[in-house]
Parts: sequence; structure tokens; C-alpha cells
Amino acid sequence: MKVIDTTKYFLAGLFITVLFYFSINSQLEKIGAIAPSSEQSDKSNPTFSAGISEAELTRLIAKSPEVHEYYSFDNEGLNIYASPEDKTLNKAECKIYYEEFAVFNRLFKAADIETLKAIYSQKDTSRIDLEHYNGYFSENDYQHVDGSLPLSGIKIALDPGHIGGDMEMAILEGKYVRISKDKGKTVSEFNEGNIALETAQILAKKLIALGAKVMLTRDKKGVSAFNSTYDEWLQNDFETALKTELEADNIDQKQYTFLKTKADKKEIFHDFFKGLEIKERARKINSFHPDLCLIMHYNVDEENYWQRDRVQNLMTSTEQNYSMVFMPGAFLSNELGEVEERIQLLRLLVTNDVVESMKLSSFVAEEFTNTLKVPAISPYSEMGYIKRVSVFTGNPGVFARNLALTRMIHAPVCYGEPLCQDNDKEFQQLLDSNKSRVKDVADAYFNGIIKYFKRQVQ
Ligand SMILES: [Zn+2]
Repeated sequence: MKVIDTTKYFLAGLFITVLFYFSINSQLEKIGAIAPSSEQSDKSNPTFSAGISEAELTRLIAKSPEVHEYYSFDNEGLNIYASPEDKTLNKAECKIYYEEFAVFNRLFKAADIETLKAIYSQKDTSRIDLEHYNGYFSENDYQHVDGSLPLSGIKIALDPGHIGGDMEMAILEGKYVRISKDKGKTVSEFNEGNIALETAQILAKKLIALGAKVMLTRDKKGVSAFNSTYDEWLQNDFETALKTELEADNIDQKQYTFLKTKADKKEIFHDFFKGLEIKERARKINSFHPDLCLIMHYNVDEENYWQRDRVQNLMTSTEQNYSMVFMPGAFLSNELGEVEERIQLLRLLVTNDVVESMKLSSFVAEEFTNTLKVPAISPYSEMGYIKRVSVFTGNPGVFARNLALTRMIHAPVCYGEPLCQDNDKEFQQLLDSNKSRVKDVADAYFNGIIKYFKRQVQ
């Protein structure tokens, strides 16, 4: 067993206190209660005035040290390089001057990824016309109307993970729990997609009651973010999507031929559909311009998951239970080869998304332990995804991880994994038709969001 370093926890606590102070200010500014502080308009230090040091920010965004070879700060601004070689040659593919940071902050919130790509490549290392971009935001899509309810004018996106529906679909997705106590004679089962949706729907009601505007990426069991079932998509949209992706160079001729002629339904789902559907979720969320986004999943114990019976898809329950939350960051060296990926790295360096995601995620993680009584996973966990691809933030249960959705969503993001569905007790409670455990999880998210917005609710 590892000895807990108390200094680390003290520093983490101190860090949270500092964040707490900045959080209050930034939220008050957001609702127009106070003017932005002079610190935030300090052009010589535009990013790091938002409650995080440069050292801490760069620690959180990079899992591999090579990530730092894709950017540099100098006295004029931030340089992004297409490769580490380009950095040694001092050949930036894009430069954002400090006086442009505010514009890029708004651009990341207002523009879609295609527009951002066009601006990024046209800009190169030249200065943009600030006047032009001020006009660009005149539609004030993200200006809030004030209201009397605690969350009036706040926009919240909820993304319930997976697709769910019947067990056949859940087994195709690989997202289900199926347990038998008598060797398969009687089976108890449910699927993650369905309980994630139920949780999001309960949470949505609670948030709407407080005045928030809420968007769900999908709102019917078995219906994906494309607003159709997977079977309907195969029937109506698969062929067109294949051609589009081939033309956009997102798949090559070999993949195209395989998917078109050989792949079965399950292979098409995992090799092609899933990635497109996640992009659709990100597109929906970004065009909603949310103030925050929750990605809602339920976990299974990693070891247990791989021991599923291949014939009957049965698993045994486990004593393990833990919670965790992911936020943007933790890029790996091989995750910056595409322009779009470097634009997402740029986002973490010029916007407040890292700081805000960390605040939101920390409050939610705290509620997973307080409200749900599920302990946060240890930062020393040997589990593959914690060890290899995540960066511990210092806040219990909160890790930076470069998942498709933590990367593609332009807002503060909290990707929640509140408990293990295959835990003995959780499994029994989740099966119960009174839905009390799902309601508990919705409450935990709700309490975390309220803490984030620092509002008193009766
Ligand atoms: Zn999941």
C-alpha cells in the first residue's frame, strides 16, 4: 500500500480554495454582476490570470512531455507548431498574439470547427483584423438574459453516453450488465445507455425548474444523436456517410471497401458509426453554445468487464466500486498529428476551459463521494486508462484525459463515471424499478452544478 502524502493533499486543498475564489468572480462576471477584473484584460498574461499557473496548465494538458514541443509562448503571444521539428526551426504554423486571445476565446465558443480550421490556416502567423471579429459576434448568441430563477439564462448540455434501447442493441454496443445467480437459469440485466438517459432526463427536469436551458444530445432509448435507431441509420444513411467520409479522406479506399462489402453490423458500428455519432454529439453541443457540458456514463469494473462470458454474455458481480471524473487535457504525443487536434490544444491554452472544467469536475466528483457514498478512485490505481492516458489533477477523483468528447467540446466539460454498475449492491439498486439509485446520481450531478454556480437553492 502506498503512503499518502499529506503535503500533496494540503496543497490540493489550498489550490481548490484559490480556484473557489476565482470561480465566484468569473461566474459573477458571466452574469454581468461585476465588470471583468483588470487582471483578466492584462495582455501580457492573458491565460494564466484565470486562476492557474503556467506550470500547472502545462502539466494538465500534456500526458507526454513531447506535447510541449508543439507550442511555445514568447513576448508577443502563443506559437503552435505542426511538429517538434518545426519548433526547433522556429517555424510556427499559427501564432495567436496576446491581444487576440479574447477574440479566440469567443471564437472557440461561437464558431464551428470548420470555421475555426479556416481561420487558423488563413491566419498563419499574421495578425487578424480585430474589428472584423468583433462584428462576427454581434449575434450575441452567448449573452445571457437575466432572470429571477437561480439558473436563469444558463445553458447546460447533457450527453447521456451510448445508445441503449433493447438488450440486443446494448450487447452490440458492448454496454450492458447481465448477471445470473443460478448459472443462467434466471438472468438480471440492464444497459448503460438506458440508465444514463434516465439520469440525464431526471437531471434535466431539476435544472429546468431552476430556470436553466437544457439540451440533451439524445432523448429516447435506442435512438442515437442522429435522431434515429442504429438500424434506421444503416438503412438510410450508411451509404451516404461512407461516401462523404471517403471524399473527406477520413477513411481510405481499403476501409471503404471493407465497410461496404465485408463488415457485419457490429463491425460497422465499432469501426465507423461510433466515431461519427460522437462527432454528431460534439456538433450538437457546440452549436448550443453551453455554459457547461456533462457527459454522463456509468462505469464497470475493468477486470470484471473482460471476464464476461462470450456465449451468454454473463458476468459476475464484484465488490469493487469507485467514482471518477474526466476533464480536458492529457494529450499524448501521437495525438497532435492533425490540424484539428492542434486547434483543440490551442483551445486549452487560450480559453478558460481547463480551469472551468476542473472546477466543475471537482464539485461533481465531491458529490459522487458525498451524495452517492462512492469513493473516488485512487490516483495510484494500476488501471490502464488511469495510469497510461490520464493526468491526476490533484482533486480527488478528477483526471485530465484526452477523450474524443473532452477534446471536441468547446465549453467546461465534466465527464462523469459515478459508480460501478456491476458492483454487488449497485447492481441490485440499479435493477430496482423505483429508480432510486438513478435519482441519487442525478442529485449528485445537480448538487455539483449548483456548487459550481454558487447559488443557494432551497
Ligand atoms: Zn460508458
